[in-house]
Amino acid sequence: MKISKRVSGISESITLKLNSLAVSMESEGKKVWNLTAGQLPFRPAVEFTESLRNELVFLNSFQYSPVPGLKDLREKVLTYFNESRKVDVDKTHDVIVSNGGKHSLSNIFATILDPEDEVVVLAPFWLSYPEIITLYEGKPVIVGASIYDDFQPNIDDIRSAINKNTKAIIINSPNNPSGVHYSEEWMKSFAKLMLEFPDLIIVSDEIYFELSYFDPKPTYFYQYDESLLERTIIVDGVSKNMALTGLRVGFCIGPKSVVSAMSRLQGQTASGANSLTQKALVGYNFNLIPTYLEPIKSHLRENARIVQDKLRENQLSQCWYQTKSAFYFLIDFSNTPIIDQFRKDSEDTTDYSSQICEKLLTETGVAIVPGEAFGAPNTARLSLVSTKEVFSEAFDKIINFVKLN
Ligand code: PMP
Repeated sequence: MKISKRVSGISESITLKLNSLAVSMESEGKKVWNLTAGQLPFRPAVEFTESLRNELVFLNSFQYSPVPGLKDLREKVLTYFNESRKVDVDKTHDVIVSNGGKHSLSNIFATILDPEDEVVVLAPFWLSYPEIITLYEGKPVIVGASIYDDFQPNIDDIRSAINKNTKAIIINSPNNPSGVHYSEEWMKSFAKLMLEFPDLIIVSDEIYFELSYFDPKPTYFYQYDESLLERTIIVDGVSKNMALTGLRVGFCIGPKSVVSAMSRLQGQTASGANSLTQKALVGYNFNLIPTYLEPIKSHLRENARIVQDKLRENQLSQCWYQTKSAFYFLIDFSNTPIIDQFRKDSEDTTDYSSQICEKLLTETGVAIVPGEAFGAPNTARLSLVSTKEVFSEAFDKIINFVKLN
């Protein structure tokens, strides 16, 4: 069957190849340390699972939900947003509940983009942004950042990427894959920059907001100039902060007009999100999220500490930057001896991250995600969620590999 041009253009996930290699290695009885996880391997809060159980007796827990989501949940999300971000968007903004943060992003770009519109994407970025933008005939324009800027893109570089065709910019702090959130200073400068471009739509993916384990906590540009909220669309959800990736609920908080347009779209393409999960969320107190996350954060801090200590002990401090949030660390191979096995000469700027990760997996059994997927050449993302023992063992293997020991 002939596949549409639209869908033929979607790239196959880079991780897929490595994952199938990892699976076939395991089936051959080889030990694999899988550090590719994009989710917390922990059970959700008991208060949430109890709430879910309580909803099982009601017929309407299993029936269609209103297209934009349950009214009580939407109100709750808006209140929580106002309180946690210290803003007041009660009168101007609305919430639409979708099937996960990814679906929220898909709704957003479908709603705001016309063909050829450009969207500035800050790298390292979450791999689905450029794919979703391209699907809706927009053009992603990438602005990179490196370990030397703690993976925070330079404000002047962002300014240079904006032109008359730029419709929107997407930012993601705390960031997947770098595990940092942009500093207050960065957010203030970004707010100023956005004031220079009054027609630009700002998409702020805040799905890891609660998952910051080193102070200062994440702040956002609109907290320094609330007028920016008029053209800001926020993505949030329960996948990461409540460990509910499989229950598929995401939120989008945006100006009323854009939320109503997204709701029209969702009504024809997906309908309302999972009614049982929405009802269980109505019965759960969002203020318990920080308490639920406390032990998880201390676990992430410990694994981040292992990275720092082992890099230092092995004279690889040039690879260290302070991870602060989400649950990832991006290792920069271009600062380690392994890169010399791939580069043809010192001028060679080719991205070898996929080949390096494949070699790492076949030689040591450690699976991590090549930076190629995130617009971060010659790096790879490792997830900090495994147990301390597994993580430590796997990280030793990575170190030995990159040092050519
Ligand atoms: N944004 C970012 C930055 C993410 O990392 C993810 C999930 N990996 C999402 C959005 C999508 O989350 P969900 O699972 O709720 O679709």
